[in-house]
Amino acid sequence: MTDVVKMVHGAGGQAMQSFIKEYILRHLGWGTGEIPLSSLDDSGAIDGVVLKSDSYTVKPLFFPGGDIGSLAVAGTINDILMIGGRPIALALGLIIEEGFPFSDLDRILKSISNTAMKVGVPVITGDTKVVEKGALENLVLNMSGLGVRHPYLDHNLEVVKKYRDGFDEKWLLDSNIKPGDKIIITGYIGDHAIALLSVREGVNFEADIKSDAAPLNGLVEAALKMGGVVAMKDPTRGGLANLLNEWSEKSGVGIKIYEECIPIRDSVRNVCEYLGLDPLELGNEGKAAIAVIPELADKVLEAIRQNPLGKDAEIIGEATDEYDFVIMETVIGGLRAVPPPIGDPIPRIC
Ligand code: MG
Repeated sequence: MTDVVKMVHGAGGQAMQSFIKEYILRHLGWGTGEIPLSSLDDSGAIDGVVLKSDSYTVKPLFFPGGDIGSLAVAGTINDILMIGGRPIALALGLIIEEGFPFSDLDRILKSISNTAMKVGVPVITGDTKVVEKGALENLVLNMSGLGVRHPYLDHNLEVVKKYRDGFDEKWLLDSNIKPGDKIIITGYIGDHAIALLSVREGVNFEADIKSDAAPLNGLVEAALKMGGVVAMKDPTRGGLANLLNEWSEKSGVGIKIYEECIPIRDSVRNVCEYLGLDPLELGNEGKAAIAVIPELADKVLEAIRQNPLGKDAEIIGEATDEYDFVIMETVIGGLRAVPPPIGDPIPRIC
């Protein structure tokens, strides 16, 4: 570790994981609860209440398919959903640099309102600070969220119990996965990161790619209603590669995925090839990976595909005890390890 914080420490990969363990958890990891900080899951839970806090530093603030406002609502709500929570309220913290145009602020607040209203989750508290010019770039916002147990979570867990002896988990944790569980991805990966890249200064390529930022309330409800889900996680910073490695490590299983089953748009694949990026490491803001008991994987997949945000969902692999890491069978039939990314190939995407 260096003696100062670097960009890589916030990039969602291996460097951020060890930074969090060595610094944040060393001081704050003593807390208990149903899902304590030390489990480093998508949200925390205590006394039946789900809590999530997320800050947004995306650059630029407006991008194809969304803006910092819609992104913040989607990101926070999705993290509450991922552990089996139902989001019920949001808290908005705005830190604005002096000189920021009211017209842009208006657009962002409208976008927060529209996105939150669509899923019926109101902003019920917040805070606004203004800092002098130069103290930060434009605007940073924090979106925290509150949730309760999802109304279909207990039904979903009961279904798992029918098939899995001794299963006694109360939430959809990263550590719940067992060999044989199937891994579903709910749609095309990489769109969000490439959409942001396409509008960054100095980058210019022809690609009509929009961010996928969206709250996944309907899709998650469909999956839980069917039942059999053991874990859910959104592949944000660090992408699918980081997500699967976190699952593998926390659940103590290997995960095997099949390259030909992973939905990636040709346009995203082309940009990745051109710039030397790995689509598995790109961030997404409207996708979930869902681990399901093998007996019900096809049924859950079918249920997800009924939702517009899950119509391109695929089963991309399964947990296995054949390995203790993440491995991918390539389109040509070879095998390659999928390590967690060190940092993020495209910083400031969320
Ligand atoms: Mg997450």
